[in-house]
Amino acid sequence: MKAVLDHVGIAVSDLPAALAFYRDALGLHVEPPEDVETQHVRAHFIPVGGSTLELLEATAPASAIARFVEKRGPGLHHITLSVENIDAAIAHLKTRGVRLIDQEPRPGAEGARVAFIHPAAAHGVLVELKQPARRSASAPSWPTAESLRVQRHTIGDLEVTSLYDGYFRLDGGAMFGIVPRALWQKKVAADERHRVLLAMRPLLIRGEKTVLVDAGLGDKDSEKFRDIYGVDRARHLDDALADAGVAADDIDVVVATHLHFDHAGGFTVRTPGGRIVPRFPRARYTIVKGEWEAATRPTERTRASYIPENFVPLLDAGVIDFVSGDEAVMPGVRLQRSGGHTMYHAMVWLESGAARAVYPADIVPTTAHLPNAWALGFDLYPADSVTAKAALSADLLTTNTLTFFAHDPVHAAGHLVEHHGVRSLRPPS
Ligand SMILES: [Zn+2]
Ligand SMILES: [Zn+2]
Repeated sequence: MKAVLDHVGIAVSDLPAALAFYRDALGLHVEPPEDVETQHVRAHFIPVGGSTLELLEATAPASAIARFVEKRGPGLHHITLSVENIDAAIAHLKTRGVRLIDQEPRPGAEGARVAFIHPAAAHGVLVELKQPARRSASAPSWPTAESLRVQRHTIGDLEVTSLYDGYFRLDGGAMFGIVPRALWQKKVAADERHRVLLAMRPLLIRGEKTVLVDAGLGDKDSEKFRDIYGVDRARHLDDALADAGVAADDIDVVVATHLHFDHAGGFTVRTPGGRIVPRFPRARYTIVKGEWEAATRPTERTRASYIPENFVPLLDAGVIDFVSGDEAVMPGVRLQRSGGHTMYHAMVWLESGAARAVYPADIVPTTAHLPNAWALGFDLYPADSVTAKAALSADLLTTNTLTFFAHDPVHAAGHLVEHHGVRSLRPPS
């Protein structure tokens, strides 16, 4: 069994005293805490090389950490070993007669699957085995139900919900441009057809109006298309809207970041009679004029990404409002042209009271794309993407802004943080 130390959990009873040692005396960086509400635990993460120390603080008397501290005092609570295949690891341990707490893996944080080995078998140490979500990207056991869940946030007066329209797959090399596979495959697993798993995550904003940003792939595609792109819409936008308590005719405005099929496919729908009509019957559709021109006059390079039936029927129905790419959609919501991915690709900013959020769409489609230089091979103007991302990141690292990811298979949103030049995501607060 190949195992890598993932983290060491330390139960603390006096957090300020623990911080005085780990942060102030040792001089280690302590990341903002994360609450694991189901466990009544607040975890403070301290990155140390390839692994992490976790200071675990009980938030309620019922917490296992509170009981641990009461019984044994503060100290080493558990160690976590990361394994490639947790099912194989458990099966192996069973054949060796090792006493387990979990006979089967159970869901852990961030889509991981975890199982505990009994301390009696591990010489007094509680050992957790963990299979991180990323490693199983090509495996059928991917935790779909867990990561495709609507997530509601409040941004000032706006209620913002990350939706989903299922998964698809794109060639890994094309998703990471000039980044060598040796680097990107440390973050993302490719399947046997060299594709990486991506989610489609449109954004719902409820304020003065009800606004939908992008609409995923929709369901007009052929069997062949769905095979090429590994489309998995077992749970799709209709489910997400239902989860969010919104009906199709509640949508007032649909905003397009751009018109690629994985963002605009859900703008239209085929009727039982075979006609293609706007999917949101009451909505006006906000489309950047320059992007429309690019989409309706594609080049050989761009043709595969633009499918006319996703947007031309909107023009026929007279429901499009063309915009320049830098304007307000409603109070608190505005478009900002980024360029890069396409000449007129736009990001969406949400600003209400002191709160801010951004939907950068394909400028930062997943958390794997956080480094400035990690631009997509699909980008038509990659140097502009890097410039746009650099400006965006400088903003995100100095402000408390929630970032939504259009394609991350695991993370719908989070706050960008940087430590020793390495960027990562802090969960939404
Ligand atoms: Zn795109
Ligand atoms: Zn996209």
